[in-house]
Amino acid sequence: VKPPFKFEKNCLSGKTILVTGAGDGIGKQASLSFAEQGATVILVGRTTAKLEATYDEIVKLGYPQPAIVPMDFKGAEESHYQGLAETIEAQFCKLDGLLHNASLLGVLGPFEHIGLDQFDEVMQVNVRAQFMLTKALLPALRKANSSSIVFTSSGVGKQGRAYWGSYAISKFATEGMMQTLADELSSTHIRVNSINPGATRTKMRASAFPAEDPATLKTAQDLMPLYLYLMSDDAVDVNGQAIDAQPK
Ligand code: NDP
Repeated sequence: VKPPFKFEKNCLSGKTILVTGAGDGIGKQASLSFAEQGATVILVGRTTAKLEATYDEIVKLGYPQPAIVPMDFKGAEESHYQGLAETIEAQFCKLDGLLHNASLLGVLGPFEHIGLDQFDEVMQVNVRAQFMLTKALLPALRKANSSSIVFTSSGVGKQGRAYWGSYAISKFATEGMMQTLADELSSTHIRVNSINPGATRTKMRASAFPAEDPATLKTAQDLMPLYLYLMSDDAVDVNGQAIDAQPK
């Protein structure tokens, strides 16, 4: 799958899509873009005020009314994800899309300085939470006619890099989860892929590269054609692929 990524207007009409990390950065933009193309978006994230801001923007623009689910992946356990899945099935009957976007950069530094607590926190938010959320939501995803799971990877999820310890390891695990699930679900109507956004103008990028001029970077909005394409029915045959939003 290569750019240009095409999507039809209103291509997500009638679909319900859950986005994690919907209060900021790429997740906020994806929520707005999915809603713009007709989806009802379930906004999941850590900071309620940020989710409310995304909610307000969607409503103000006249897009389908979203839902808000504040959730801190650091502390959430399996029963919380099960509860979320039950609420979704009760309210929407099915789930058409799941964008795993939230993640934590953690502390960048030499491998031997990574504290076990820091490592565990990054793995909890970036891997364990995705595992539990996916597991809980598979029954709802099975109830849609065609559904799309999109994981968010990184360049360091394919090629390790010095000082990116926990984050890089977590992104390799994300690619592993994507490939394993995609293979397992290949005979179903659920497709599973990952996006590597590439350098994008967000808070996470600024904290990883503080000396960089953000104006030189692509914005989250620039990446949206790929996100929309993967969520739309045009991508029904795309499965098990790791896709660069900004290929070199
Ligand atoms: P941001 O830091 O701007 O946004 C991350 C989002 O994740 C925020 O909404 C944040 O919530 C949420 N989040 C963080 N921790 C938790 C938690 N414990 N529980 C629930 N939600 C949490 O990052 P980006 O938009 O830049 O990144 C989005 C994705 O893209 C990430 O997976 C990242 O790894 C990936 N990526 C980004 C690149 C870039 O250049 N920006 C490059 C490659 C990959 P809150 O706002 O409440 O803190």
